[in-house]
Amino acid sequence: MMIQEKRELRKKRNKLKRVNRIKTGIITFVGLYMLFSMIMTTVLTFKVVSLQRQINVITGKESGTVETQEVAAESEDETYLTMYATAEDNLADPDDTLKVYLTFDDGPSSNTSEILNILDDYGVKATFFVVGKEDEEYKELYKRIVDEGHTIGMHSYSHKYSDIYSSLDAFASDLDRIQNLIYDITGTDCLYYRFPGGSSNQVSNVEMSRYISYLNDNNITYFDWNVSSGDATSQAYSPDELVENVMNDVVKYKTSVVLLHDADAKDATVAALPQLIESLQAQGAVILPISDDTTLIQHVTID
Ligand code: ZN
Repeated sequence: MMIQEKRELRKKRNKLKRVNRIKTGIITFVGLYMLFSMIMTTVLTFKVVSLQRQINVITGKESGTVETQEVAAESEDETYLTMYATAEDNLADPDDTLKVYLTFDDGPSSNTSEILNILDDYGVKATFFVVGKEDEEYKELYKRIVDEGHTIGMHSYSHKYSDIYSSLDAFASDLDRIQNLIYDITGTDCLYYRFPGGSSNQVSNVEMSRYISYLNDNNITYFDWNVSSGDATSQAYSPDELVENVMNDVVKYKTSVVLLHDADAKDATVAALPQLIESLQAQGAVILPISDDTTLIQHVTID
């Protein structure tokens, strides 16, 4: 009887051990499975965030390149454009001769010579707000801009918002660099400036009024725009639409400063240019290069 009981007890104990071993196995398996799931979830979350960021850069919602940066800064400008719509002294009367200033930002680029050729075909002068590029082919383009009677303006050397808008010192040394480059290549003492993103940009770490005073102190005039072609936005406007965007607004103002872009990717702008010039001329507008006589179009001013 005793032996029988002992055997039963040992059997039970062994069974219990086996059950425990299986339990431990299941718990370990479930634990590892959960850990693996958590790691995979984390990895996938990172992947999704990074892909979303890439999508935003591509569609222009986030600062990634010069062009998308411009979009980010420009999209804030609607309030200023609306302000211009109600700026009494610049509202056109029906018998006014419209003055239109075509301005090209971000060049020189692979499109500059074609833009210059088209302007030359129509005998039209424009304004180029250029950035710093030192290759020989670009030096020729700065020269062509000046030699062919267009106005050359500065649009910063680096066009890096994170640099030029980080401090007044950084802004000043960048300005010095582009001014010297233009002087060395063309002999022009350049006194016109367009802030990357406009004076109304929302990205500067320093109050824009400090940069504006700096320009004023150095006798440099900055121009923003009151008519935007839309060629900086992520939306791919057709050449016809770019012309339409400009024509819809140009008729409102005595003086229109039109924002266009001279960058490698801006083929639609080049394609739109002949039709734009013809439409403006058909409207009776005079197309002029920016000069000291140009009515100031500035988003933000200081007294
Ligand atoms: Zn720009």
